[in-house]
Amino acid sequence: MSETKELLRLAEALLARPSLTPDDAGCQALIGERLVAAGFTIEQHRFGAVDNLLAWHGEGRPFTLFVGHTDVVPPGDLSAWLTPPFTPTLRDGCLFARGAADMKGAVAAFVVALERFVRSYPGHRGRVGILLTSDEEGPAIDGTARVVELLSARGEVPDFALVGEASGRARLGDRIRIGRRGSLTVELLVRGRQGHVAYPEQVDNPIHRMARILGELAQERWDEGDADFPPTSLQVTAVSAGVGADNVVPGEASARFNLRFGPASGGFAALEARIAAVVGRHAPSHELRFVRGAQPFRSPPGALRAAVEAVLVERFGAPPRADTGGGTSDGRFLAAAGAEVVELGPSAASIHQVNEHIALAELFALPEIYQAILARLHSP
Ligand SMILES: [Zn+2]
Repeated sequence: MSETKELLRLAEALLARPSLTPDDAGCQALIGERLVAAGFTIEQHRFGAVDNLLAWHGEGRPFTLFVGHTDVVPPGDLSAWLTPPFTPTLRDGCLFARGAADMKGAVAAFVVALERFVRSYPGHRGRVGILLTSDEEGPAIDGTARVVELLSARGEVPDFALVGEASGRARLGDRIRIGRRGSLTVELLVRGRQGHVAYPEQVDNPIHRMARILGELAQERWDEGDADFPPTSLQVTAVSAGVGADNVVPGEASARFNLRFGPASGGFAALEARIAAVVGRHAPSHELRFVRGAQPFRSPPGALRAAVEAVLVERFGAPPRADTGGGTSDGRFLAAAGAEVVELGPSAASIHQVNEHIALAELFALPEIYQAILARLHSP
């Protein structure tokens, strides 16, 4: 079987498995079998409902780990999909299915790149491997974070972590991520006093208080960002109040909002204190709950970034833009443990959308790129 056909078959086999978070649906078993056959050592770590697979080849340093996830987000409106989300379909030079770009295409490419690399360099320097979880799109508690803890305890934190999240802007290779913003979710309940709209002196309207709070928070200039991070932003995601009658002022109003922040914000505690001050000023009676989603991270430039940039320049003739945009990623757990982290995957244009897809040209290019990066760091 030709190499591209083999890659396509693996990608399709993964995409046909409906692995909605945290269900791995057999993806890791399939990958584990292949890597064992290629001479890798594997460890399966199941924590709660989450499956994690760790596989490696060789020993010592440097240690490069490909990092990814086998879970996918729900397909959403099924009638908007041109072909069923878990029936991988080739159309217009692309492979369509939920998870094609985020990120089973890259996972299949990782596997094929590792197989080919150890076949070409059986005596490579150091250790190469892959870490997969089925809980990246969910709470991300029993996934990568737990396995990294384990690696830390064993003194086996990788030197380099290459995350395969979709990172391309217009095409594969035009952008890499060298960090990600943090995420803070806030739940707010404002209390007032319920009553008849015709008796304003007898009511305390919590919606009016909420409007002042949200207005002030939405306009707040949290920070100016820095060279790698855009300014922190806040988006209100839900507001609710009302008893269903036009002549009643309700007794409570609630809202949810989320901040995406960089280091210039001062972090969780500083943001929470500023939010609490605004809320306190406008609403003496309230409940405020902070859900700390993810710490921001920024990976300092090192040998991994140099290898990735050199390979991309060689292939595309131009260096990638390096930034920290997009959602959170499991790269944060590896960066916090001390690994150098770079994220490089296909175009991100269709991730989490209906009719998610990966261009075949990008899918077929990925193993060569990943393999070339390994060669720069590990060839004997
Ligand atoms: Zn992803």
